[in-house]
Amino acid sequence: MKQFSYRFRDKKELASCLEALRSEAPMEYKSVLASLYTADEWENVNEFRQEVEKTLPRATVVGTSSDHTILHGSIIEKENILVVQFFEHTVATLQVYDFDVLSPGASGKALANLVKHIDDLAGVELLTVPGRFNTKPFLDSLSVLPVSIPVFGGVANCEIPDFQPFVFAGDSHMTSGVVVILFRSSRLKFFVYGGLGWKPLGVPMSITKLSDDGMTIEELDYQPAFHVYDKYLHVSHSKSMEKDLFAFPLMLERNGVEIARLPVEITPDEYLRFVCGFTKGEKLRLAYGDPEEILASSKRAQHYMAFFAPEAILFFDCVSRNRFMQDSAETELRPFESIAPNAGYFSHGEITRAGRNVVTMNMVMLTVGMREKAAENVLPLTESGAGDSELTGSMSLVKRLASFITVVSKELEEANKKLERLARHDRLTSIYNRGEIESIMQDALLRNRELGSVPVSIIMLDIDNFKQVNDKYGHAVGDEVLKYTAKTLMNGMRGSDHVGRWGGEEFLIVLEDFSLDMAKQIAERLRLMIADVKVLPDGGNITASFGVAKYNPGEDFDDFYRRIDSALYMAKRSGKNCVATK
Ligand code: GH3
Ligand code: MG
Ligand code: MG
Repeated sequence: MKQFSYRFRDKKELASCLEALRSEAPMEYKSVLASLYTADEWENVNEFRQEVEKTLPRATVVGTSSDHTILHGSIIEKENILVVQFFEHTVATLQVYDFDVLSPGASGKALANLVKHIDDLAGVELLTVPGRFNTKPFLDSLSVLPVSIPVFGGVANCEIPDFQPFVFAGDSHMTSGVVVILFRSSRLKFFVYGGLGWKPLGVPMSITKLSDDGMTIEELDYQPAFHVYDKYLHVSHSKSMEKDLFAFPLMLERNGVEIARLPVEITPDEYLRFVCGFTKGEKLRLAYGDPEEILASSKRAQHYMAFFAPEAILFFDCVSRNRFMQDSAETELRPFESIAPNAGYFSHGEITRAGRNVVTMNMVMLTVGMREKAAENVLPLTESGAGDSELTGSMSLVKRLASFITVVSKELEEANKKLERLARHDRLTSIYNRGEIESIMQDALLRNRELGSVPVSIIMLDIDNFKQVNDKYGHAVGDEVLKYTAKTLMNGMRGSDHVGRWGGEEFLIVLEDFSLDMAKQIAERLRLMIADVKVLPDGGNITASFGVAKYNPGEDFDDFYRRIDSALYMAKRSGKNCVATK
């Protein structure tokens, strides 16, 4: 395949582009796909399209609105880009769905039905413009495609005031719908890489209220969704959200893939509106851009792409990523120029696969490599990793700040984990403390009370004559004996989640789904294990007494606790070092 691309502002400039194309174009090819990325009105674009068709009568001509585009590794503003792909072995066919005519869900089903019967499908490109529709049901339908078939594309974008972005195929243009390009070939190979570089921060928040169309998050953790920006970034509603928020998307995880989503509107009710859909209950976190990670992600894309050795590269790059990276934005793109002819546009959403699913992302530089011939000139892999010198101006400062946030949040996360562990574990024996084992027992009892199906038994044990151990060998030896006992209980139980220190030299074990008889056998085994080791300095061993009781469905919890106590008391009364049940 061969890809040529040109920039032009008007019909006259387009004419000279087409002139150049005529001299460059291959004489023989199987099919040709021409894509226009444009910030112009449809009237003009339609004329451009006709000019392209005059020069290339066999061409399939498609396009999308975008006021920022990419050509040969450079960023172009408010011009038109013509990308022409000549295929030797591939046929690019079109499907067009206008959501005003057929809903996104029905369109998706129709497409899924159609592609089922195409046995040489190599890849699917989507030029979308959601308008007032949620494209999620459309994209969801495409999850039936084998995971080996790439699906990629972008959401039309144009920030010129009062301009309605559109997509088109041939002479039909739409302000809500999708142009689907089906690449049919046994030779065409794709490599799709989506580099992110944004990192989630802070606590996860659940979507507790979502609009019917799935595109407006009304509440996060029962608060109007916009409050998250107010709380963390002190952005007031009256301010232009464009300026303040484009660097801070919300992040979620689907199928193990991290997805960043940037709101496009704050409603008067302080809801957040997006161009793509969510599901109620999904968890989101606020995210920040780390310029170093962003550059590292594009380095990885270059690295893999060089290895793939494409004949052509397309970009679907995020408008907000571009804005965030400021003067450093081209740093991400320029190196691709040495890999293959490349072009693309800045989109409002980047469409790619996350496992089986087809999803819309934000903040992503989606890089799509294509080739029909076998890879031969594989370029050597170069070291990836962003260098300081590549970030210029204020981005260098943003990089330091991002690194500061990353390190501090990691430290806090670790400190939190430590605190959490401390709060739940006994300091001396490292098993659960009283509070934790008590709540584990409570939970098990409540589950039993509600569901009734899983029996709960409790083993409570108390070391025999422990006071004497302390008196004879000292407190330090007493402590060692407690540690030894805890360790023995942990080793003796498979589900170590249910062993805790009740206090002093008393321990408690929660057993779910064991009969009373089995619980007794377990207690007996533990009793033997404890007595088996010569743990005392003079070679003596210790023993413990065990009380075992099974919770009777419907029994008052306090009555049950009393039964456990009295079982243990009985064991002590009958000479210690034994198991009693009640
Ligand atoms: P019995 O066989 O009837 O259970 O007698 P006992 O001596 O084991 O019971 P008693 O309740 O009289 O003594 C428990 C002792 O455990 C008293 C207390 O000083 C000691 N103890 C409680 N917590 C700790 C601890 O953390 N470390 C040490 N070394 N001793 C402790
Ligand atoms: Mg005791
Ligand atoms: Mg004791």
